[in-house]
Amino acid sequence: MPKIIDGKAFAAALRIRIAKAVAELKAQHNLTPGLAVVLVGEDPASRVYVANKAKQTVEVGMNSWEHKLPADTSEAALLELVHQLNRDSSVHGILVQMPLPKHIDSAKVLNAIDPAKDVDGFHVVNVGRLSTGQEALTACTPVGCVMLAKHALGKLDGLEAVVIGRSNIVGKPVAQLLLAENCTVTIAHSKSKDLPAITRRADLVIAAVGRPEMVKGDWLKPGACVIDVGINRIERDGKKILVGDCDFASCVAVAGSITPVPGGVGPMTIACLLHNTVKAAAAIKGVKAPEM
Ligand code: NDP
Repeated sequence: MPKIIDGKAFAAALRIRIAKAVAELKAQHNLTPGLAVVLVGEDPASRVYVANKAKQTVEVGMNSWEHKLPADTSEAALLELVHQLNRDSSVHGILVQMPLPKHIDSAKVLNAIDPAKDVDGFHVVNVGRLSTGQEALTACTPVGCVMLAKHALGKLDGLEAVVIGRSNIVGKPVAQLLLAENCTVTIAHSKSKDLPAITRRADLVIAAVGRPEMVKGDWLKPGACVIDVGINRIERDGKKILVGDCDFASCVAVAGSITPVPGGVGPMTIACLLHNTVKAAAAIKGVKAPEM
């Protein structure tokens, strides 16, 4: 196993397996999974992200719909669209791109999505299912992190895992997934005391903080696997660059394996969204999802 975990290559291979699964569902069950993405407003980063999702959805053979609504769309109008997509039998996955404009209650919108079509895994029903060990659609970035950790380490049973960050979209779900993989999980956050001492215990460190290059090499146990979720835009030597939450240069010298930024966790998120959409389509149709 190479020391640097290539998330881009792993995601590309996963998309090939997803495309095969989609072809199998079409051939055996006359089922074409479909993903509807809703974007409210003009946020440039969200626009790029939504366009990439649509492109990759089509590339694996699924149906894709983009609903672009103006920034002044009312909460009621957005909820009506979500209800319409819930009723549409050709739609198996619904994703409302975050962040939403301030006048819209995001939690209300996310919880209006049919949990069976909640491919972002943010609905309280899916969060509850995950935390009670039931089959659930689970948030895409956390699923991607665990896939990469298993790729690097094989079975995770009994490993000490430290997750830095306790957000609902990354830290908490990734901790639940690692618990389901039989890790001994510690969740650290901004009030944790002596973070380096906590991370030095870990066989697996997942950094989801949003602070550029915070985790240093001497915070790690030699040989640990490091999954860096952070995406931070900084300026260095007059150039705008992307860095993670880990100081790559010092961490790579100590870690057994590590994800780079960019090219680590980032490319996994959309691949896992497509993965969830295939799972959702098969479950809604009442057939077994093909292996992916
Ligand atoms: P949030 O800001 O929601 O959460 C950050 C977490 O880090 C909080 O729990 C916070 O603690 C904790 N934290 C902040 N400062 C410290 C500190 N000094 N020491 C320890 N813990 C600290 O961020 P997200 O979870 O949404 O995202 C985290 C990072 O992952 C970001 O860089 C984001 O861009 C990236 N990201 C990447 C994705 C991808 O690859 N596709 C997808 C989603 C996120 P507290 O709760 O106490 O405030």
